Amino acid sequence: VTFVSLGLSGPLLRALEELGHERPRAIQAAVISAILDGRDVWASAETGSGKTAAFVLPLLEKLGTQRRATTPGRPRPLRALILVPTRELAAQIGEAIDDYARHLPERPKTCIAFGGVSINPQLMSLRGGADIVVATPGRLLDLVSHNALRLASVEMLVLDEADRLLSLGFADELARVLSLLGRRQTLLFSATFPPAVRALAEKVLAAPLRIDV
Ligand code: AMP
Repeated sequence: VTFVSLGLSGPLLRALEELGHERPRAIQAAVISAILDGRDVWASAETGSGKTAAFVLPLLEKLGTQRRATTPGRPRPLRALILVPTRELAAQIGEAIDDYARHLPERPKTCIAFGGVSINPQLMSLRGGADIVVATPGRLLDLVSHNALRLASVEMLVLDEADRLLSLGFADELARVLSLLGRRQTLLFSATFPPAVRALAEKVLAAPLRIDV
């Protein structure tokens, strides 16, 4: 299996080469084509497995090839939402997106949002909208209530480290976020699947591809 055979194209392949990613990790080989095909994914994957690239690469491929019409003067609609339990993970995913997107002809606008810091810079960075938001659930809802963001246009939702999202007490916020989303593709990654994570996966995923690496 190669990144080419998984369906990724030129600009992403160039970035992968520069970053020294020679061949796909197991989780990447297992999910990338399915994500490109629009399937939901239920993946059991640990940190260090290469799970970030497993969802970031197909997400960037899709945003790059399936452009959306924008209306001049209106904020660009949010297309992808990545929910994470911690600011560290949010920052790390933001960096991965920048790394992999470096050669895309139209780089997606990405905003990172987490609690525990002033909301103002995050409000500023969301002016004009964003294509991708990586956020912790509580701060995301704060941004929504400030009208900085609308979630109804989201095409792809990623729940990363879903077990930690729940164990850190984000269940209510998560439910509220889900209630604001419309029809979309959903990917759930978790190191462990205790009953609460299973229940969440069953609720949010439709006919998912199930992968255990
Ligand atoms: P993650 O599990 O997403 O935290 O990724 C762990 C590390 O593996 C990161 O530093 C990535 O840059 C690296 N990585 C991910 N995919 C590959 C790959 N196919 N080849 C080499 N390194 C990779």
